[in-house]
Amino acid sequence: MALKMEKTVGSRKLVLVLDASAFIYGFNPLSVEEASYTVPAVEAEIIGNEVAYTRFSIALNSGRLKILSPNDNAIKEVKESAKRTGDAHILSETDLQLLALALQLREENTPIIVTDDYSIQNVARYLGIKAVPLATFGIKSIIKWVRYCPACRRKYQESYMGDTCEVCGAKLKRKCLKKISIINHNSGEG
Ligand SMILES: [Zn+2]
Repeated sequence: MALKMEKTVGSRKLVLVLDASAFIYGFNPLSVEEASYTVPAVEAEIIGNEVAYTRFSIALNSGRLKILSPNDNAIKEVKESAKRTGDAHILSETDLQLLALALQLREENTPIIVTDDYSIQNVARYLGIKAVPLATFGIKSIIKWVRYCPACRRKYQESYMGDTCEVCGAKLKRKCLKKISIINHNSGEG
């Protein structure tokens, strides 16, 4: 399946930066022309998922997927940006690394982050990095998030605008309540 956008921007190549959900929901780096990148923490997250990890390993061994650790400067810049967008308390260490890797790759390429994570998309937009949902590749997923207080366990709806617990003042965390994925096999691949 081809991305419906320009393959190059100037002399820069389009490259994809993949989060764990991309592999879990069925994205296959071998099905696209662009080179794919991810961070070591993503490998650690999917190693227990046999189907996703098999897909990951095949792409890695083929050379179409590369694992890179972002440099400290890129991580620092992403952390600063996440503070400004209000996503710092929601982004996981893996999310920060993915954003930092995209930022680093932008020095020589045009990175596109593939993720359904709203906070990653939000910080990417702030940094001027393109982020696309998995639906771009025919993968539809519905993620239901819940925010909760790690101290008193109180749950908060998406509509709650604060980022701290109104009872005890702790910083809220977010977890995935439900994931449903629908993979479109019309391309005949996968
Ligand atoms: Zn609380």
